[in-house]
Amino acid sequence: MHSYPDRAKLAQLFAAEVSLFEKLHPNSEDLHKKALGPLMSGVPMSWMAKWPGPHPVYVASAKGSKFTDVDGIDYVDFCLGDTGAMVGHSPEAAVKAIKEQLDKGITLMLPTENAAIAAQVLAERFGVPKWQFTLSATDANRHILRYARHVTGKSKVIVHDYCYHGTVDETFAVLDLEGNTVSRDSNIGPQVDPSLTTIVVPFNDLAAAERALQTGEVAAMLIEPAMTNIGIVLPEPGYLEGLRTLCDKYGAILIHDETHTLSEGPGGMTARRGLKPDAIVIGKTIGSGIPAGAFGMTESLAKRIQSSLHLEHIDVGGVGGTLAGNALSMAAIRATLTEVLTPEAFVQMEKLCTIWTQDVQNLIDKYQVGWQVSQLGCRAEYSFRPTAPHDGREAQEADDFELQQYLHLHALNRGILMTPFHNMALMSPAHTESDVQRHTEHFDEALDALFS
Ligand code: PMP
Repeated sequence: MHSYPDRAKLAQLFAAEVSLFEKLHPNSEDLHKKALGPLMSGVPMSWMAKWPGPHPVYVASAKGSKFTDVDGIDYVDFCLGDTGAMVGHSPEAAVKAIKEQLDKGITLMLPTENAAIAAQVLAERFGVPKWQFTLSATDANRHILRYARHVTGKSKVIVHDYCYHGTVDETFAVLDLEGNTVSRDSNIGPQVDPSLTTIVVPFNDLAAAERALQTGEVAAMLIEPAMTNIGIVLPEPGYLEGLRTLCDKYGAILIHDETHTLSEGPGGMTARRGLKPDAIVIGKTIGSGIPAGAFGMTESLAKRIQSSLHLEHIDVGGVGGTLAGNALSMAAIRATLTEVLTPEAFVQMEKLCTIWTQDVQNLIDKYQVGWQVSQLGCRAEYSFRPTAPHDGREAQEADDFELQQYLHLHALNRGILMTPFHNMALMSPAHTESDVQRHTEHFDEALDALFS
């Protein structure tokens, strides 16, 4: 059952938005036609074809909370590169450091001073002392999972139902209706059945986590402290602390992937809620968009890893990447952490996000649409169900692709970019109340069209 039953009206409204989009974007259309020649689906990466409307909008330039497309239209960007640009586009302090580094060497296979300085900041913020750098959060997840299996001698990973942690093979699994771990429908070319590598458990279900750990096969539990990739699913009181106790009891390594939940503050949910994982993963925005990822760990986990590795083999062990820790990324990370993603910036970002969330809630109430909105620091998302979801499956069941495409295209046609694939908005340090107001006006108009 769809949350919006009048599908004929929805189709009509969507068609009107497609016509408007076509009228507004002749230059983007032209560039897209040219791109269809050399690029598969006309885009540099397959998921870029999934924007609403007949083709993507092509960007001319971006700065702060805004970007301008090749047809001269300005947008407020609430997608922010799905967190890659949570710092705002091209923040001055990071750009200065990046430009300076560009003239001093980009990658060497040797460390620069910036790496230790950036690692020290991360250690202080997240409370784990030993760090390594990668080019993406995906790589950071892959590497810490390898280390976890290596030091525990166990083979399996626990993840949450409907999680997303990047293109990490072990995580493309869900629960079927009987509670078995099976390959996710969308999983492209898995090398093995994920039930061989993974045990899936519902979010907020400590009993299921304990049953999985009792198998004795689990090396690590990889979690987002709040789910953010199937809408926002918040932890119930005691859930995250309970996972810590269980992982200790069964000797599994607890990994917090804070790539998105960093929205709660400089040390993510881990620091804000006083949590104690064995390892942390972050990425995306920490280099202001220059490719960068990192994973950190406790002293004792670092010692276990170090004492079990042989220098002779260290470069061919499956943990690495030639460009990892390169001089440019490290300059970008240092400047981003110390000068852009400051504690003060987070306060401002969260304040604005609270206004965004309240405005959305007020309009949900005004039109009595039976939806809900959740906030996680400077990230917020509405979903097409009346109460906050308890786990990933509940969140997934509220999905309505056509309704979402309509809302996103309506927003785009009014100069607002929402995160594709879900109804999420992020605030950067550069966003303002008038940016938020622009979204509120669009949301009011869209709900009026749908429900009046
Ligand atoms: N972890 C989480 C929680 C994510 O949401 C994502 C990407 N959306 C990743 C890791 C992977 O990030 P990347 O694609 O930049 O490697």
